[in-house]
Amino acid sequence: MISEKINQIINEQINKEFYSGYLYLSMSANLHEIGLFGFASWLKIQAKEEVEHGLRLLDYLLERNSYVTLQQIRTPEFEFNGVISVFNTLYEHEKCITNAVMQIAKLAEEECDRQTLSFIDWFIEEQTEEEQQVKSIIKRLEIFGEDKVALYLMDKELAGREA
Ligand code: FE
Ligand code: CA
Repeated sequence: MISEKINQIINEQINKEFYSGYLYLSMSANLHEIGLFGFASWLKIQAKEEVEHGLRLLDYLLERNSYVTLQQIRTPEFEFNGVISVFNTLYEHEKCITNAVMQIAKLAEEECDRQTLSFIDWFIEEQTEEEQQVKSIIKRLEIFGEDKVALYLMDKELAGREA
């Protein structure tokens, strides 16, 4: 069985992942409202992925004969100031998530919990992808986001993301 501290930090991470899902979902709804259906769909798929991350952590606790303590998920906080601002907020958010994942790795290292270390590796790699994919959208929006036709084409492209 894993230690109390590891149990606590993983339970907190479950909450963070579900919160991420909530955040992505509220942004998705916002972009849907203004007619950017492709961006909205991309974000909704990402929200589902966040729920998957939460479930992966939950299953790990159960596999280790530990216990799950689900906490309240807070209201997603962000101000809607256009498409780029959504992705900038997400980029900052994903950096915080990466940091949280690193804290789990650090604690597992301190406790010589090799199972948790090996488990958390997947999340470390996943965070590289998360940061990269959000940043690549920001870069492109910065170059041609002002151009309505380009925005339309990008919206169409993002609509192609599969679950
Ligand atoms: Fe996640
Ligand atoms: Ca991902």
